[in-house]
Amino acid sequence: MKKIVSPILVVLIICAVCMTAFAADIPSKYSAVDKGYVTCVKDQGDFGACGAFAAVSCLESDYIMQGYGTKDNTDFSEAFLHWYAVNSAWADEKSDYYGDGVLFSGSVYNQGVVDSDLVSALKTDSGIAFERDFPYSAYTASKMGSYSDAQRFASGCNVRIKDIVELDISDRTDVQSWILKHGSAAVTFNGTRFYTGTNGTVANNPLALVNNHEVAIVGWDDDFIAQGAFSSLVMRNKGAWLCKNSWGEEWGDDGYFWLPYSDPTINSIMGISVTVNNECTDKYSYNGYAIYTSSKPVKGANLFTADQSGSIAKVAFYTAPDTDIKIGVYSDKGNSVPDSGKMLASYSGHYDDEGYYTVKLANPAAIKKGDSFYVVAEYSTGCPFEISEYTSSGAKQSYILVNDKWTDVNDTRDANNVPVDAIIVGVHSYGPNQHKDPTCTTVGYDMKVCEHCGKVVRTDIPAKGHSFSEWTRADSFRGGITAYTRECSVCGEKERQFRDSNGNIISLKEAEEIVSSNSFFSGIYTNIISGFRTSAQLFTDFYKTVMMRLVYFFATILPF
Ligand SMILES: [Zn+2]
Ligand SMILES: [Zn+2]
Repeated sequence: MKKIVSPILVVLIICAVCMTAFAADIPSKYSAVDKGYVTCVKDQGDFGACGAFAAVSCLESDYIMQGYGTKDNTDFSEAFLHWYAVNSAWADEKSDYYGDGVLFSGSVYNQGVVDSDLVSALKTDSGIAFERDFPYSAYTASKMGSYSDAQRFASGCNVRIKDIVELDISDRTDVQSWILKHGSAAVTFNGTRFYTGTNGTVANNPLALVNNHEVAIVGWDDDFIAQGAFSSLVMRNKGAWLCKNSWGEEWGDDGYFWLPYSDPTINSIMGISVTVNNECTDKYSYNGYAIYTSSKPVKGANLFTADQSGSIAKVAFYTAPDTDIKIGVYSDKGNSVPDSGKMLASYSGHYDDEGYYTVKLANPAAIKKGDSFYVVAEYSTGCPFEISEYTSSGAKQSYILVNDKWTDVNDTRDANNVPVDAIIVGVHSYGPNQHKDPTCTTVGYDMKVCEHCGKVVRTDIPAKGHSFSEWTRADSFRGGITAYTRECSVCGEKERQFRDSNGNIISLKEAEEIVSSNSFFSGIYTNIISGFRTSAQLFTDFYKTVMMRLVYFFATILPF
């Protein structure tokens, strides 16, 4: 008996040592915001796009931590990601971007997205766009829908997704380690009710069971103690995540709040990392929407045809948690037996967390344009398959090993392709120059796009600035105030300027004060000068001013 117990004890002691050493590397309090790894708080407005905001915060933080940008000059497009997540099933079937996302009716931006939609959109090769090219507030669903895939893709942003990891919500150090390395993680929880404690804004409605909101975790405090309503219910233990919400800087603590570790509605925490696409890398994928349909070890394969010569340098795959995965790249012998050809490259690894991972092959395999090859994946545990409704694989493209026999997934309704992709590195082949003229206020560009990988080489042309006429006298007001106007001869933009009785330029506020102190009906004059009021508002202002003046008048002359 003793002989059996001893090795177990040894293992336990080793584990305890490992855990202690690991925990020692993680501080009890951390803020990626203070480190400068987090971009400013955004406002999602009335649209249900919280998931895109949380995910984009992850991409931005990882990009900054890798040294590609700063918190002030890094700004990726939530509109772009959200559109892809909910809408890209509408894309051209032959396009690389077909097959991800879920089809909704109605306004795209009114749809919330769940993590699986985001993952489907992110794991395609569409990457992310710059905010300046797809600004959130300016785009309606119909406007985004009018862009072709190439236009959506060619935004000059060469950022692609590397890993998308479902972090272990039962293991806080798993999440903390990710944030120390990548800056942000996206958490889903119930955000229906928040309350403000004396030491920070804290979620949540402890009675709610569904998760309906997603924000970015950007730090933590193991000693945080919430106070106020609900605190005894959500704060079973001390400690909370520092979260960046997407409801503007006016909300919460400058847009941030604390989400207790013990909040019962925390449903998932997702980490996303990025890679910057400088080489000519083209992803071969049947895309799709990964879902578990197997709990047993499984083997599957996808067949791809290279559309350029280069080397198969990376593979990407979705895996279940706690899984050993083996991948082999094989030449195609044309007999529909995926692993019958020559093995060109291989990879194996163990993954603790479920997710989509991109890995470099130690020995990349050379491939010629037009050659086809299989990527065969063997999972030690259940494998997430991609649902056929959202995948683009056809006959003789995707196979599953059933009872030791390779079966074309196209021939069966209950088996779908394994989510395993290949990435070929080749040589850029740029299309013709695309030119856009600058306007008075927006930048233009010269841009060329690689037909293989979508890499964009872009030179911005600065905005031209307005071409204003001379100032001309427009209005005069009480107190010697004069208004001058000028107009841009190119775009028609108008500007207004005020001068006092000595001809000095003064601000609108100063002009209002002078007019007001010289007028009985001050409210009306200042509103006219501002020019910001509607006629209905002006009438209300007029009525209020007259009534106030009358009350004041009678109060001063009558004896009661
Ligand atoms: Zn390229
Ligand atoms: Zn102009």
